[in-house]
Amino acid sequence: METVVVTLTGNDTACQIAAAGQILKQGGLVAFPTETVYGLGADALNPQASRRIYEAKGRPSDNPLIVHISNMEDLGKITAKVPAQAMELAAKFWPGPLTMIFEKSPLVPFETTGGLQTVAVRMPSHPVALALIQAGGGFVAAPSANTSGRPSPTTAEHVAQDMMGRIPMILDGGPVGIGIESTIVDVSGDMPMILRPGFITKEMVQDAVGPVELDPGLAAEGRNICPKAPGMKYRHYAPKGELILVDGERKAVQEEIIRLSKKAASSGRKVGVIGTDETCGAYPYGLVKSIGTREDEETIARHLYGVLREFDEQDVEIIYSESFSALGIGQAIMNRLLKAAGHRVLTAKKTED
Ligand code: AMP
Ligand code: MG
Repeated sequence: METVVVTLTGNDTACQIAAAGQILKQGGLVAFPTETVYGLGADALNPQASRRIYEAKGRPSDNPLIVHISNMEDLGKITAKVPAQAMELAAKFWPGPLTMIFEKSPLVPFETTGGLQTVAVRMPSHPVALALIQAGGGFVAAPSANTSGRPSPTTAEHVAQDMMGRIPMILDGGPVGIGIESTIVDVSGDMPMILRPGFITKEMVQDAVGPVELDPGLAAEGRNICPKAPGMKYRHYAPKGELILVDGERKAVQEEIIRLSKKAASSGRKVGVIGTDETCGAYPYGLVKSIGTREDEETIARHLYGVLREFDEQDVEIIYSESFSALGIGQAIMNRLLKAAGHRVLTAKKTED
């Protein structure tokens, strides 16, 4: 299949999006920018179209898709009931990087929900995403537009790396703003529960609706508990090389990464180091990349997947990364890094000064 990459340019945007909407209406796939990561869209109400997403991504069929909508009236059509807390969260965070899990209505095929009675719904804020949803019939199932298991795409080039020849169209709207997937909150039970951390933090959800639980399956120490979001159980977001996180006191972490990268380099392995703007200059061995600045952790979220993909392109075999605090957006950053690392974490011993 030939993949057309459409660069969205001011004057032609409406026509370009209308053409993409036609592909969706005919059951085809279109990759498009959202504010979180690039999505791989299909008509969520067409079972055949949803199946095409699983094929293109090589995604396990029990991993449900998020349905993207562009207005609140459409939420009622695909859900059985919308709890009051969900309305409050929607009022506060939609359009935006929040996905909520509802009981589904019969309109949504099981092919889209991975066989579940619940449906995940998000209203994105990216203007291209909103326009495409409207042009494509109102309900667009869209997981991240990467091959299953690889880092999510944050640019159209990343999408092309994984999807060239597999889908008819990629809409290029430039790099995304946030860089990690939406926060998922299950609002179908008594108390809202965070199933996947994201840009909208637990504290922000709590401020809006009061007490919120965190899926116990998310905690690293609870690795034998199955997460409630089926997708969270897979090793995910992963680079091709081996990724190891180094945790501990700041200076001890740096010294440990220097020691490990020196050792791996001297044994002939191609080594990568993930540091920050504050520390990158201190690493003498391997290919060193900054993931952002600790002064503004949103920059770390934005660069995370791009940095992992760059190491892939350079065939790096082993990557050592600094760790981050699990507070605020740091919780989402550490969730993705830990999964990318298959939970391999070394603790650096405190050094004597
Ligand atoms: P992706 O869009 O590829 O970033 O992944 C969507 C995430 O949403 C996966 O982790 C899914 O398991 C999760 N998800 C989608 N629908 C549901 C649902 N009905 N219940 C729980 N998790 C869901
Ligand atoms: Mg994904």
